[in-house]
Amino acid sequence: MKHLTDGTVLNNGVVMPWFGLGTFKAAGAEVANAVTTALELGYRSIDTAAVYGNEEEVGESIAASGVERDSLFVTTKVWNTDQGYDTTLRAFDTSCKKLGLDVIDLYLIHWPGADKYKDTWRALERLAEEGRVRAIGVSNFQIHHLEELRKESGVVPAVNQVELHPRFIQKELHDYCVRHGIQIEAWAPLMKGRLQDNELLQGIAQAHGKTVSQVILRWELQNKIVIIPKSVTPSRIKENSEIFDFELTQDEVNAISGLDAGERIGTDPDKLLF
Ligand code: NDP
Repeated sequence: MKHLTDGTVLNNGVVMPWFGLGTFKAAGAEVANAVTTALELGYRSIDTAAVYGNEEEVGESIAASGVERDSLFVTTKVWNTDQGYDTTLRAFDTSCKKLGLDVIDLYLIHWPGADKYKDTWRALERLAEEGRVRAIGVSNFQIHHLEELRKESGVVPAVNQVELHPRFIQKELHDYCVRHGIQIEAWAPLMKGRLQDNELLQGIAQAHGKTVSQVILRWELQNKIVIIPKSVTPSRIKENSEIFDFELTQDEVNAISGLDAGERIGTDPDKLLF
């Protein structure tokens, strides 16, 4: 992990950058500019989702950037109301069209929902077989969802994208994913900016001449977690990417992990049943 474009090898051999840009709650010109800025700064991974309503802008900025398609890694996700076999295949086509891409690098089931995720997963398997996606995975899956999927399918998700930050380190789920060859990816890696006043993080940041956000993101990288911090602010997009030139000590990593309080800021996947 020495460079912005360094990646983790997923369980099917595809390489995914450790670091990318999140785009939740960013729309219109704001998201278009954020993607443009990020690509200019050397970001090569962008995370979007059908439900964010910004796939068109993300796709337009990618096309305008002139960055070679092969060096980009684009993730999008099937939304809950499109779950099911045929509906997922249709939703995938719509996402590709909006993004202006023939192939998606990583396609995720956005939330497990109630009972359709096994059919949705079969659709993702088909898309992978047809070469329309390079890797398939899930998001917000708990251990019991992953176990259910394991009973049904021989294809192990390449990635599980879940809420993860120093206040919610998801140790049990993370360990499970490591054991089963599933790359863990953090959403809300900055806890949406809510850890800026934390004294431990401020002290460590000062010791390294870095910011609190940079320390959090570095802690995630050193824990082998893929990160996609979201920002539409050019100075922060730059700040968040400058984390490959310092290293936290093991004591610092452990101290930050000690901030865990089991504190979820997003929805509990077992309670989002549609
Ligand atoms: P983040 O933890 O990435 O935080 C984003 C917030 O932090 C924004 O308000 C941003 O402000 C602010 N911020 C960014 N950088 C800094 C900085 N250096 N200093 C201070 N504040 C900063 O939360 P997200 O929820 O956006 O998660 C990241 C991405 O994960 C999403 O954008 C999305 O792509 C994905 N995601 C996936 C979910 C899922 O269910 N699979 C759920 C939620 C998110 P500003 O933009 O104004 O600069």
